[in-house]
Amino acid sequence: MPDNQNIIHTLSSATINQIAAGEVVQRPSSVVKELMENAIDAGATRIDVIIQDAGRTLIQVIDNGKGMSPDDSVKAFERHATSKISDAEDLFALTTMGFRGEALASIAAVSRVELKTRRQADELGSRVEINGGELALQEMINCQAGTQILVKDLFYNIPVRRKFLKKNETELRNILNIFEQIALVYPGICLTLTNNGSTIFNLGKENYRQRIASVCGDKTGKELLTIDVDTVLAHISGFISTPDTTVKKSPSQYFFVNGRYIQHPYFAKAVLLGYERLIPADCKPQFFIYFDVEPDKIDVNIHPTKTEVKFEDEQSLFPIIVSAVKEALASSCSMPGLMFDQEDRIEIPVAPVDFSGLKTPPVTGNTNYNPFSSHSSASSHAAKPVTGWERLYDGTSKEEEILKSSDRLAGYEIVDSVKPLFRGFVYNGKYIVCSSDKGVLLVNSYRASLRIAYDRLSKMIESGHSEGQMLLFPEILELTATENVTFRENKSLFESVGYGFEEFGHTAYKLTSIPSSLAGDYINSIKELLSDPDVCNVRESFRERMLMSLAKKSTRQSDVSGSEEAEKIISELFKSRTPSVTPQGLPIFFELDSDFIKNKIG
Ligand code: ADP
Ligand code: MG
Repeated sequence: MPDNQNIIHTLSSATINQIAAGEVVQRPSSVVKELMENAIDAGATRIDVIIQDAGRTLIQVIDNGKGMSPDDSVKAFERHATSKISDAEDLFALTTMGFRGEALASIAAVSRVELKTRRQADELGSRVEINGGELALQEMINCQAGTQILVKDLFYNIPVRRKFLKKNETELRNILNIFEQIALVYPGICLTLTNNGSTIFNLGKENYRQRIASVCGDKTGKELLTIDVDTVLAHISGFISTPDTTVKKSPSQYFFVNGRYIQHPYFAKAVLLGYERLIPADCKPQFFIYFDVEPDKIDVNIHPTKTEVKFEDEQSLFPIIVSAVKEALASSCSMPGLMFDQEDRIEIPVAPVDFSGLKTPPVTGNTNYNPFSSHSSASSHAAKPVTGWERLYDGTSKEEEILKSSDRLAGYEIVDSVKPLFRGFVYNGKYIVCSSDKGVLLVNSYRASLRIAYDRLSKMIESGHSEGQMLLFPEILELTATENVTFRENKSLFESVGYGFEEFGHTAYKLTSIPSSLAGDYINSIKELLSDPDVCNVRESFRERMLMSLAKKSTRQSDVSGSEEAEKIISELFKSRTPSVTPQGLPIFFELDSDFIKNKIG
């Protein structure tokens, strides 16, 4: 190649648009967000979102907003075409959602778009078709006032991007998240969301509290405390959960600034600080906090898809949020007797602790232990003798007894060639110590039971023979729209482990039976699974998480009750194909082989 050859060239506008689209349109939910925001900016009071295959094949947004003129309906798709700012100065006085004029151009560059729009006063509307950023058609048509946009075959012209889309379940969840974020901040707008013909949301005009209940469930909506503070920096209003309605998993935690959902870890810390010592460490509060700020007090000139906003004076807002939360909690009856001092500083009392029932902790280790006595129990739980069990391990057991024990294991698939022989005892109520053919085995009984329960449940799913127990008094499972989506996808899985459901309204079910091993709060154990944020995690299937959670719920943490139980655990454990680790991968037993012992003590 000659040295003077020029190699730099300008990219075509189609390519530039596709590259830029990468920033704005990452996945179907980004399209939903941009189109809904445009509809809101157009003053719509009703927005219908219709999707197919989680947005992969179709995203349609219909609004009753102000519509566009025929000329604007074409111009809207040009890069940097916007009606929202004229110069950089305007950036600091923005009250609308979009402003860069990038969204429609970006969406059109990576899909097939059809737009129909009409202004109220116009007789005819305009229809525009754009494929991969190229204008294919514009015509005048009869259509309803407002704007309808159809986005088909997202990323049809960029196979790499298409390949990076997650499974439908995940993409739909992202869309639901976006939809909910918008729904929570515009309760006055009627909103619907339909996927593959089934209605997920149908929200009428509501107030904030009602909207929170419609989106996050009645239980969350009913128990909210109000926050309302006016300062020079911002007007802060909204709702927080009472200390008794905090949740363990995936709490609804939302901040909004001037009508837009944002994430703000620093302010979230302030809210948590407000709850300090009022809720258990593993519980999380729910909150819906809305900031109204002068546009010039926040930096909105950030990436369009980012949800972070920088406030001018975050340090000063922090303590304001803390005390707003404390004040709301103090005014609720859940905190009787809380007083403010003159400077409005709030003293939060430590949650009352009853010390009267506390006793000196018991000495661990058996002080009576005599290694030469066959009757001394090595367990510190001396009050709970493991009768019968010790007899085998007092050193006088006969060879044939041992043989009999190993016979019983003959049919099992032994992994790591560990062959437990039933000679042992229970140490500290928790560990089963027994001999194996190679040495000494120490088994964590809880972990072993977890493995056993998990295997039993997964066998149940494989065999199709579920063991359920009928509930004498059926309980009602009420789900939010999002939870219901996950539930419908996995209903048969629930049924395969023994759950029984009857339809009971749009997103409610009557729970008629439960897995036979399950104890405790059945309804919450289902809800916990459905609202788990990791539900999007593709690496771990819902089945895996359900089995894990059920196994945990059906395994007691209590001490091994005696020889019979210990023996049963050992024999069940070694029937497993993977007896050495729990389903989460934690070791279950530990073997001191004879070489190790010899090495140590000859
Ligand atoms: P931005 O929203 O940043 O201005 P967009 O590419 O999203 O950029 O939209 C470009 C322009 O098209 C908007 O400024 C607006 O004038 C017009 N527009 C887009 N969607 C709608 C709608 N649903 N109703 C009325 N006008 C719209
Ligand atoms: Mg926009």
